[in-house]
Amino acid sequence: MRIIKKADDYWRYNLQRLIQKKYPPQKGGVLVFHEVTDEPDTPMKPDYAIRTDEFTTFIDSLREKKAFFGRFDEEAIKPGKIYITFDDGFKSLLHTAIPVLEKREIQYIVFVPTDYIGKPGYVTKEELSEILGKSNSVIGGHSKSHRRMHGLRLQEIKDEITGSKKELEDIIERPVEYFAYPYGSMNAIGFFSKRAAKNAGYRYAFSTLCVDNRKYKDPFFYPRITVTSNNYKQILEMM
Ligand SMILES: [Zn+2]
Repeated sequence: MRIIKKADDYWRYNLQRLIQKKYPPQKGGVLVFHEVTDEPDTPMKPDYAIRTDEFTTFIDSLREKKAFFGRFDEEAIKPGKIYITFDDGFKSLLHTAIPVLEKREIQYIVFVPTDYIGKPGYVTKEELSEILGKSNSVIGGHSKSHRRMHGLRLQEIKDEITGSKKELEDIIERPVEYFAYPYGSMNAIGFFSKRAAKNAGYRYAFSTLCVDNRKYKDPFFYPRITVTSNNYKQILEMM
């Protein structure tokens, strides 16, 4: 079984590299941020975090370029438009990225793993309702425990994907229609996850496959472009 898992990991890893090479991202797409913070030492830094001033510059430069920001509550995600998402539910978002987006009326999804709620650095239940009270926020599922799905048993995968949906819906008292796979790569999601996300009734399940969403648009493994301090200027040029 371990050999099968290893082989499967290997081909998925290479398949993702191939697809990313074949369909590099173009103008527009769903962007994913993690932590937006001015704290010098965050566990996410420097590979997954971005400073508030960098984030603000990024958003304002897109607006100057007349980029179109899409809304998730429209019928479907439209290639060419830009969509904003945040993974993991960092509490700093409430004072950093969220005011920037609210002021400019740009919609965004905050993906929250239910087991992280109330942990140091992550949103509490009260902060989650504060976010929900904003006009442009959407809360999405990000599993229960934020484990890699690959290697988990079917029941565990269902629990992470369907169970966390129910749990989050009970907390926020509204339907959860969007999901982001933890780590989000082809080899992190493994077998069954896509089917579980579909069966759970999500509208979209997001990956971290970094490709052109005109060419690759599987709603249950939807591509996203990761934006950080290290690459935001490059991405700005591409948009
Ligand atoms: Zn995550």
